[in-house]
Amino acid sequence: MHHADVIIAGAGPAGSTAALVLARRGFDALLLDKAAFPRPKLCGGLLTWKSMRLLERLHGRTAEGLIREGVVDTVAGGFALHLGGHPLIRDRLAYPFHLVRRARFDAFLLDRALAAGARILHHHEIVDCSPQGDVRTKQGEFRGRFVLGADGVNSVARKCFGLSRERWQSNLAAAIEITVPREAAPRITDVPELHAGFLPTGYGWVFPNSAGMVMGICGLRRNCENFREAFKAFLRHLHVDDPDAFVRHHALEGHPIPYGNALPDPVHGNVLLAGDAGGYADPLLAEGIFYALLTGWYAGEALADALEKDRHPGPAYRERIRRHVMPEMRGANRLRWLLYGLNKIDARNLGRYFRLRGGALAEMVHGMRSYDWGRKKRWDF
Ligand SMILES: Cc1cc2nc3c(=O)[nH]c(=O)nc-3n(C[C@H](O)[C@H](O)[C@H](O)COP(=O)(O)OP(=O)(O)OC[C@H]3O[C@@H](n4cnc5c(N)ncnc54)[C@H](O)[C@@H]3O)c2cc1C
Repeated sequence: MHHADVIIAGAGPAGSTAALVLARRGFDALLLDKAAFPRPKLCGGLLTWKSMRLLERLHGRTAEGLIREGVVDTVAGGFALHLGGHPLIRDRLAYPFHLVRRARFDAFLLDRALAAGARILHHHEIVDCSPQGDVRTKQGEFRGRFVLGADGVNSVARKCFGLSRERWQSNLAAAIEITVPREAAPRITDVPELHAGFLPTGYGWVFPNSAGMVMGICGLRRNCENFREAFKAFLRHLHVDDPDAFVRHHALEGHPIPYGNALPDPVHGNVLLAGDAGGYADPLLAEGIFYALLTGWYAGEALADALEKDRHPGPAYRERIRRHVMPEMRGANRLRWLLYGLNKIDARNLGRYFRLRGGALAEMVHGMRSYDWGRKKRWDF
């Protein structure tokens, strides 16, 4: 049996951020990940203003610094929205989107945690976790004073919470994504493009990065029977002549995203959940990197305070989730049903909404305003 102050399941953005915070405060944080880093991760890699601000707070690196180090891959000063295959809006942004490639980005976050003194065991697949803090992997057994489940959307750590599987499944989105080199891409763009109007509760994207064009779709699973067909519909919107041939030629990969599953209480016994494991991706655009960084940071601080003062991390962690995360999740969920509802009545309504409220919406996406009725957002970082 191996011991640590905190066993962290999963070394994605949530796990590495918590490990960084704990190690900086002098605690023994042991990360277990089934993969060896750098590892691939299916993701569009789009970072908003709030993510860049939090990264600066955590790592003391500005956007320029992260670009210089090659952690940020691409900067896009605008965006485009397409509806039913037709361009609706193409605009510049007051603050740009930053795009990362996840293998590089996640390796950076992990390296920072390791440099601060955290430890990692690669190729350790967790198969069981008890509320007391016992973690079993295929390779050995571990015990932490506390455990942080940051093992993604299909979290094994979450199983000990005894939550309804049906409820979790019914709020999942399916996402399919491929990266196509520029010379083979059916569409070239230098700004992130969002495409609405071909999935009942979801959307598609084309994001530029240095590997080519990242093309993907994401939508609530319960409202779409066949995502392969939905992806072909998306390709038709992109004016791909032969979607069947395109799909045959490229190996499509998919991964679920929590899309309305955010847990108001991510604490059970000595186990805390952060990032996708706790369902923290917004239910409008499925932005999850920011919430993984944020909840990893909150969990790391709550755990370090608890270890220092010999108390339980639950109350402090729950409170920050309640105050800063859940209002965004609820607000984004309301907006999702409004926008998809408008689109269902008549696609032109969505266009009108964007022309009227596009600026405020961009600020909500970036996090300068809250999804909670568009109020100015005061983050605690
Ligand atoms: C197609 C797609 C596109 C996306 N695009 C964006 C985007 O553009 N912007 C954005 O903000 N979000 C996006 N997301 C969401 C984002 O990828 C996630 O929200 C984010 O990665 C969550 O981080 P995390 O640290 O919680 O989990 P993850 O990044 O999933 O990391 C979990 C880690 O746990 C490990 N693990 C899993 N199970 C086990 C186990 N049993 N034992 C040991 N280790 C385990 C994994 O190997 C992994 O390293 C996208 C998601 C998808 C699927």
